[in-house]
Amino acid sequence: MRIDDSLKRENARTISIEIVPPDRGTSIDYLFRHVERLMRFEPDFINVTTHQPFTAYEEHEGGIIKVQQNKRPGTVAVCAAIREKFGVETIPHLICGGTNRFDTEDRLIELKYLGFDNIFAVRGDPAGGERRFSPVRDGHRYAAGLVRQIDALKKGVYAAGNTSGETSNFCIGVAGYPEKHYESLNMEEDLIHLKEKIDAGAEFIITQMLFDPDIYHSFLQRLRKAGITVPVIPGVKPVTSLRALMRLPGAFHLDVPAKLVSLLSGARTAEEERDAGLNYTAEMIERLYESGAPCVHIFTMGEGRNTARLLERLYSGERNWHGHTDIT
Ligand code: FAD
Repeated sequence: MRIDDSLKRENARTISIEIVPPDRGTSIDYLFRHVERLMRFEPDFINVTTHQPFTAYEEHEGGIIKVQQNKRPGTVAVCAAIREKFGVETIPHLICGGTNRFDTEDRLIELKYLGFDNIFAVRGDPAGGERRFSPVRDGHRYAAGLVRQIDALKKGVYAAGNTSGETSNFCIGVAGYPEKHYESLNMEEDLIHLKEKIDAGAEFIITQMLFDPDIYHSFLQRLRKAGITVPVIPGVKPVTSLRALMRLPGAFHLDVPAKLVSLLSGARTAEEERDAGLNYTAEMIERLYESGAPCVHIFTMGEGRNTARLLERLYSGERNWHGHTDIT
């Protein structure tokens, strides 16, 4: 099912969950157990990330050679395997990094053959050890280029030159940054580039993680003012400790509300800290839905237990939503 169709259902409270493929050389069974734990909450979509290859140097007879290695390969296969095993709609992420447009086209053809309806298109971060993102030869420098390529293929225009090929109906999603992407000089510039992705054919946005529903709402207002009308899905990360929380501003260039920091600092045990964080996150999700978010996207970062605990809170009704945690 195309995600934009799913979001049209009234009061759907759609949930998408983001997972990462297994490390190279490890079994997929661990990931299956992780997904199984979450399936009782009937997520609507499972997104599977794609990781940029990094460059390594290997010693061979005759010298040292440069090789590209991917620590977590297999996004498309993981999507297909999860969809087959659990019957849930999966959304593969495609990235610009490390891939030229012909490889991208091959990937898109595979996705079409496998019957995927949705694709999430991002640029990718700079490759390991590099400060700036650089595309490979014939690759896309920005996500808008990737979206343009997918949109062209949807209309039957292929990179290899065929302009009347088989058409397709992918629903394309892109990333948005309520607190600005770290490379942008200012919010206005970032919005111009986000609009380019929408004009290129993207039909929904998933945001970088945020910890305050007001940040989502002011972002939404800015987008609407800029003429961006597609659904905007807030990204949420289950918070479980102050230590983990403190790493996020540096890694993702975002703000953490003082209220959340004070809730976590006030906990006396690790369990209390985890509960305070998850209660806060659950309350925030409730507020996002109540004020009109069509879906919430949960970043698991490969950790299913805390996502399951969070969903338990949301689904069980055990919590007194408006009594326990005041996040205003
Ligand atoms: P872009 O839209 O290309 O923007 C990157 C920067 O370039 C922005 O600052 C933008 O304003 C600027 N820019 C865009 N166009 C132009 C232009 N024409 N001229 C000048 N500047 C321009 N990363 C992965 O590697 N794999 C994943 O699976 C993955 N999944 C993600 C899922 C979500 C929900 C989110 C929010 C992010 C994800 N990322 C993933 C991270 C993402 O790849 C990084 O944040 C990356 O740094 C930017 O990607 P983008 O698609 O937003 O890039």
